[in-house]
Amino acid sequence: MSFNLNLDMDSLEKYAIASRDFKIGEEILEENVVLFGPISEPKFPICLGCGIHVDCSITCYDCGWPICKSTCDKLIFHKINECEIFKKCRNMSFQRLTSKRNVFHQYDCILPLRMLLLIERSPEKWKYIQKLNSFLDIRRDDASWQSEQLYVVKYIRQKCKLKKFDEKLIHMVCGIVNINSFHVSNNKNNIRCIYKDSHNFSHNCVPNTTFVILPSHNFRASINISKGTKLTYSKTKVILPTLLRRQDLIRNSYLSCFCDRCSDPTELRSHFSSLKCPKCKIGFLMSTDPLDFEADWRCITCKLRKRFSHLKKLYNEVEKELNKIKIEMNLEKCERLLQKYEPVFHFNHSFIVYLKYYSLLISLDGDTFQISKNDNINLKIIKLYEILSVFDIISPGYTKLRGTIFYLLYKAYIVKAKQCNKTNQHEKELYLRYMSTALKFLDMTEKMIIGKCFSDVMES
Ligand SMILES: [Zn+2]
Ligand SMILES: [Zn+2]
Ligand SMILES: [Zn+2]
Ligand SMILES: [Zn+2]
Repeated sequence: MSFNLNLDMDSLEKYAIASRDFKIGEEILEENVVLFGPISEPKFPICLGCGIHVDCSITCYDCGWPICKSTCDKLIFHKINECEIFKKCRNMSFQRLTSKRNVFHQYDCILPLRMLLLIERSPEKWKYIQKLNSFLDIRRDDASWQSEQLYVVKYIRQKCKLKKFDEKLIHMVCGIVNINSFHVSNNKNNIRCIYKDSHNFSHNCVPNTTFVILPSHNFRASINISKGTKLTYSKTKVILPTLLRRQDLIRNSYLSCFCDRCSDPTELRSHFSSLKCPKCKIGFLMSTDPLDFEADWRCITCKLRKRFSHLKKLYNEVEKELNKIKIEMNLEKCERLLQKYEPVFHFNHSFIVYLKYYSLLISLDGDTFQISKNDNINLKIIKLYEILSVFDIISPGYTKLRGTIFYLLYKAYIVKAKQCNKTNQHEKELYLRYMSTALKFLDMTEKMIIGKCFSDVMES
């Protein structure tokens, strides 16, 4: 075994530590999925076999729910689970969206139902699963509890007529699914998976491992790890600033993070959360206590104070605009937003990095490749190195985030090579040098992004 389990004396929870030294990029754990199913509240119909988006033109012969193809190689998981039940209950036929709803709540009950069916079908697996954390009592006051009551408990007990599963048991299973599953949710796949050992890895906002779910689940060392070190991965997006990361962790994982990055107002000197001071214009505003959501923010130079409510309003505004950018992928809008927010945030602030990243992605990558001859490719390369220097701090080593930048550097050097006119010896040499640099970046990209489609990386 590549890790041992230690007991945390305060929380009484077990956590994994490395049982030997691991070199950067080395595989630490590979394991098969115990159980998987669709994510909750998907925006598109998805195949009940493999979880990819479908257009509903093909449906399961037995129950009528959409599938990707009748030969979907994972359809067996549907057939042995909910298919039989849905076939018998007309209440559970697949419903298309009505104008009132913009997500498919019908999918919410699938994975909890598959888990409940293990009680009889696979008592061994159930024995292991029921020990996983469900935070049953804490979750009772959550808004999600009501939604679960409506779309999971009611669906399973009333619509599927499975009264043998009591309400408390169903809520417990929902908690286990929410807290312990690993998600793949992007423009292709929409599944969440439960594993036997992976949940023993702890959370950290600067993790020492990285993982991929498809095609198989494995954890790799993202930096050199010495024997006895706690093995960590991130349960939230490391690309978020502290305030939003900690909110997300509490909301979705019931976890208050006190890691070095969260505890430091400068985020390990990356200034990933810092704002420019509107008064003195030279200092930066930082939280007086990053572990307290409501703490005031203060300028390190002129001591100007701002209330948390000011920050909250600003963050809400920017987040809405960033979400739009992600969907529209419009270079002009992206650059306009950068101009708007550069005077407000530190040049390393998460939002600025995000906008810079998207403007480079749109101008350098694939279908959206928008570079023109007049564009200054050297400037783009400088910007990529700037982003990389921030990612070196918040996501060091062989990580997907750094991999995306190496990929864009590869693209940029290809453009640079193509701009050489190769009419004289010097230009020919330059061409070869840029091509060879591009290939080195491609090589690094492949080391960092394993089993992942490039466009999925920023989503997960
Ligand atoms: Zn499928
Ligand atoms: Zn079916
Ligand atoms: Zn943290
Ligand atoms: Zn100031």
